[in-house]
Amino acid sequence: MTILAGTEEKKFTVHKDIICRFDYFQEAFRHESTILFPDVSPTAVSLFIVYLYKGSVAMGNTEEYLHDLVDLYILADGSEMVDLKDKTMDCIQDMSAKYGLLEEVTNLELVKRVYDKTHAKYEGLRKYLIHLTAFEHDAAIKDLTPRGAEAVIPYLSAEYLESLRNYTKDHPEILLGVVKCHQFRLSDELRNKFVPEMKEDIYDPRERDESYLSSRCFFHCHRKRTDCREVPPSDDALFVASERLYVE
Ligand SMILES: [Zn+2]
Repeated sequence: MTILAGTEEKKFTVHKDIICRFDYFQEAFRHESTILFPDVSPTAVSLFIVYLYKGSVAMGNTEEYLHDLVDLYILADGSEMVDLKDKTMDCIQDMSAKYGLLEEVTNLELVKRVYDKTHAKYEGLRKYLIHLTAFEHDAAIKDLTPRGAEAVIPYLSAEYLESLRNYTKDHPEILLGVVKCHQFRLSDELRNKFVPEMKEDIYDPRERDESYLSSRCFFHCHRKRTDCREVPPSDDALFVASERLYVE
């Protein structure tokens, strides 16, 4: 079977019995031998093929690769491959945690792309980007104000909401998601202020605790509460930034 990737239509071939294990492709290849993915990078398709044969998604260390993982997620979402979505999600989360990525991931063009190219549900990568955006604003607010109640007051000020509205202009669902996340973050702040003996670190969406299902699966899309533990890959390479921009 042939897959053509990106606008340049780079060609990949894959065994029929490998790809047609998945319903979406069984249907897609019923009468055709070629499928086109114009919206995703050739690297994302090569990662997809590695997943088909090995069942895993590897972590990378470049910003380019981060964008390829986003493309892979979009491909997985479009072809209803939940396990691939979840494994790609873990990789994006692990990359963000390992390299301390924040603005590289909450880049508005990237968030909007994910909202435009995935199905309308508040889960998986959409949910992660919303949580990370709220976390990013949270950190920015804390840098400017003293911690404690003083930091809570400007949290959702009219100015902040207005800037958020401008920021997310044509995507009200992003605005609503971020505000909803702030509610949770705000309650953490208040608890720390008024019940100091319960003081906890404010939640960072990039951190995943593999020992708790609620943490491990927080950004997963699978339905069953089965054990989907992924051993986080480890390597010591450095993160490499790039200037790649999305062209819509
Ligand atoms: Zn899970």
